[in-house]
Amino acid sequence: MFAGCCTYYKVDSEIWQGLWKWARRRHPMKNTQWIKNRYFHREGSRNWVFGIKESGGGRTVIRSKLIKAADTPIRRHTKIKAAANPFDRDWEPYFEARETAAMKKSLIGRVKTLWETQDGKCPACNQQIRKGDEWHVHHKIPKYLGGDDTLTNLAILHQNCHRQVHAKYKIDELPAL
Ligand SMILES: [Zn+2]
Repeated sequence: MFAGCCTYYKVDSEIWQGLWKWARRRHPMKNTQWIKNRYFHREGSRNWVFGIKESGGGRTVIRSKLIKAADTPIRRHTKIKAAANPFDRDWEPYFEARETAAMKKSLIGRVKTLWETQDGKCPACNQQIRKGDEWHVHHKIPKYLGGDDTLTNLAILHQNCHRQVHAKYKIDELPAL
């Protein structure tokens, strides 16, 4: 299978976005600068190199550095496996399953039922709602238009998605969701 450079840049960009989201989820209380300092480093002319910094013997090295797909010679397809590595795409389902279990544990009652009905996903963006994400309960038919609090009229959405849904419709219209 031929994979051109553009494919690799696309892969890098997707991995980068995944890592950034992962880091944000892992440290929900930390700001952007803190996350950049912890996981994304300058190396030579390159900035935003993902890795864990480690100091020792008077120097700092970037441990667990992410090799860019765009740097990979096309003939090589070596996969280095480490047990349960959150930086490895192949392990994503494992970590997702763990997060799903954690989310189920943290939710109770009607919200849990809603979340399960939605298959754990936000109906606005179709992405998972994970533990640590900010979420809102959304009324499909707004209360001022007679909507009630029954489960069929409710959905849980990411906080940002919820804001976007509400920003999109006019006061006398029904929201798209
Ligand atoms: Zn969403």
